[in-house]
Amino acid sequence: MSLARSDRDRYAEIRDGVRQLCANFGGDYWRRLDRDRAYPTEFVKALTQAGYLAALIPEEYGGSGLPLSGAAAIMETIQHAGGNGAACHAQMYVMGALLRHGSDAQKAKYLPKIASGALRLQAFGVTEPTSGTDTSSLKTTARRDGDHYLVNGQKIWTSRAEHSDLMLLLARTTPKEKAATRTDGLSVFIVEMREALGKGLTIRPIRTMMNHSTTEVFFDDLRVPAENLLGEEGKGFRYILSGMNAERVLIAAECVGDAKWFIDKAVAYAKDRVVFDRPIGQNQGVQFPIARAYAQMRAAELMVAEAARLFEAGADCGAEANMAKLLAADASWAAAEACVQTHGGFGFAEEYDIERKFRETRLYQVAPISTNLILSYLAEHVLGLPRSF
Ligand SMILES: Cc1cc2nc3c(=O)[nH]c(=O)nc-3n(C[C@H](O)[C@H](O)[C@H](O)COP(=O)(O)OP(=O)(O)OC[C@H]3O[C@@H](n4cnc5c(N)ncnc54)[C@H](O)[C@@H]3O)c2cc1C
Repeated sequence: MSLARSDRDRYAEIRDGVRQLCANFGGDYWRRLDRDRAYPTEFVKALTQAGYLAALIPEEYGGSGLPLSGAAAIMETIQHAGGNGAACHAQMYVMGALLRHGSDAQKAKYLPKIASGALRLQAFGVTEPTSGTDTSSLKTTARRDGDHYLVNGQKIWTSRAEHSDLMLLLARTTPKEKAATRTDGLSVFIVEMREALGKGLTIRPIRTMMNHSTTEVFFDDLRVPAENLLGEEGKGFRYILSGMNAERVLIAAECVGDAKWFIDKAVAYAKDRVVFDRPIGQNQGVQFPIARAYAQMRAAELMVAEAARLFEAGADCGAEANMAKLLAADASWAAAEACVQTHGGFGFAEEYDIERKFRETRLYQVAPISTNLILSYLAEHVLGLPRSF
């Protein structure tokens, strides 16, 4: 029995529950949101009430304390059902930084409210317009001023900033030239956004090719209480990095779910659509891209399970988590391409949902980490090739 199969059995009940919930949010719901570029408020509410959004929060704080593979099963099932779980994965992994590095007081203050849905922690402010992937060169600063920090600068692609109560913000507290290494001197803050809006925090939405509620965020002498510093000052980069493996696994699980959705759609249509007096799926030219995408998806699924297994055992899973993200993003994109091609002209019609999912799954080649940066990680850290940047 493959790892992926045993994982499926382990979480069969959760998968059934998520599938039933998602059945109330069909293609028409997601199409309407996509058209209006609207946040999935009712869907997030339903997931929160059912406890799925608090999957990784320990039971003592009101969550269900599931291991990472359980959260991955939730994410995969949402995507496989045709939904868009972006808000969910964000809350799951952003919360992880608070859980691992927050003080007891911070955890007691925020985690139970996040678990109950009273507070949303779905905004993650790392990327900046000028520094891009080179996080250590980010320019947003946080300067200590009595019992506050004064934050100045700008973030871009801060998704769900308008719909989140809390943001995890990475800012420079020691100038790069004075820091011991280029990744030292960065710190993480919990920003209470409702409080901050209009008092040094401005949010401007960015309309993108798919519905992602993403924004640019401006800080102009925003006062953040010193007690909202997460962990130690200057160690923020490490805190963000420590959450990356979990994030990669969750995103990879989403891609596997997307790939399954595209493959199911393509197979059903290929059996049904008759051209030249026979189903198009009888032609190997139609079969093979779908079969290849299926094989890619299964390989990715095994790597996701392996990365999650290592993560849960407390072992280093950097290589596997990155490979899972790479393989799964490639599999979902191959499946998307095969699905559009199989549907011919109908693949472009909104009511089939394929063009929407096609746009949505394209993101994973770029965000939250681009394919090139994963290849570069593997080349340098796994294969020992010379460092390129
Ligand atoms: C819809 C959306 C939502 C997002 N949500 C968030 C969010 O909530 N929070 C957040 O902080 N960020 C978010 N991001 C940002 C995302 O993480 C970045 O877009 C991504 O990391 C790439 O950074 P960049 O866009 O600055 O590209 P750049 O760093 O400018 O890179 C551009 C291209 O060049 C390539 N490249 C760069 N350097 C190298 C190199 N040395 N070798 C080879 N190739 C290289 C990259 O792979 C990429 O393809 C989001 C982005 C999008 C589009």
